[in-house]
Amino acid sequence: MPERNEYLLEVKGLKKYFKAGKGTLKAVDDVSFYIRPGETLGVVGESGCGKTTCGRTVLGLYDSTDGQVLYRGEDVHQMKGKERQNFTKHAQIIFQDPYASLDPKMKVYNIIAEGIRAHGLLKSEKEIRERVEELLVTVGLDKQYAERFVHEFSGGQRQRIGIARALAVEPEFIVCDEPISALDVSIQAQIVNLLGRLQKEKGLTYMFIAHDLSMVKYISDRVMVMYLGKVVEITASDQLYENPMHPYTKALLSAIPIPDPKMEEGKERIKMGGDIPSPVDPPEGCRFHNRCKYATEKCRTEEPKLRLFGKDHYVACHMAKE
Ligand code: SF4
Repeated sequence: MPERNEYLLEVKGLKKYFKAGKGTLKAVDDVSFYIRPGETLGVVGESGCGKTTCGRTVLGLYDSTDGQVLYRGEDVHQMKGKERQNFTKHAQIIFQDPYASLDPKMKVYNIIAEGIRAHGLLKSEKEIRERVEELLVTVGLDKQYAERFVHEFSGGQRQRIGIARALAVEPEFIVCDEPISALDVSIQAQIVNLLGRLQKEKGLTYMFIAHDLSMVKYISDRVMVMYLGKVVEITASDQLYENPMHPYTKALLSAIPIPDPKMEEGKERIKMGGDIPSPVDPPEGCRFHNRCKYATEKCRTEEPKLRLFGKDHYVACHMAKE
């Protein structure tokens, strides 16, 4: 583990529960991880695994049920007043659905200028206009688009507007909440490349949330795999792709299509049995046990803890071995 002051973000034992009828939906259930400045942590899992709730709780958009989110050593959920406002400037979000996250009644100019005004970053309209136009060019759009409404743009262009809006307040940390899931495959790579370029140019730190492992590979330094509110594996991106250890990670990796049809044909696809259980009162023991072909009695009764294998490779599985 790196020294503590190497972390931009440190999450300790984070829980986020919701009331669900007579039960409790344990969306995020005792999750710990860190992100170093300038790196990208990919967060991956099927829908219902808690990745989006985790990202939003990290940003303080949801109150936590328990645990801590430390940003530069300060607890996000204890911040008030000016400290809190400062944090919202430093930490931004790009939403999954560019169609729903941008107000169709607002001009692009006002969408991007909103944060600049709210944080009092620039005073005169002339300065704000110059900044908005510069941001549009930065994300690969024409500066004249400032005068248009969002319904006039394609999905990829709208996501670029969403990125410009996030960049407007000069953040250092961005939660990218499935920013490419709603886009065509051909556009996904363009947005990932844009985010990669902006990261290099501006020294940004990302928490990049996605539902599969295909694109995450290209942008992440480390990857965290979540299943039903738990972290099941977390390690460097290369290590995860070359030596996945958790049966769930292996299944997710085997589902990524290989562009070469011959290789794709000969590839072993690991099927998961059963359905994903409900996160409301989730199963005892290992939460993956009803879908895992290696499950034993121990898996049904005892929850596997994250254990360290080699350098910085954490896996929560009773059967994991060096
Ligand atoms: Fe499978 Fe058991 Fe490992 Fe869970 S702990 S992933 S059920 S082998």
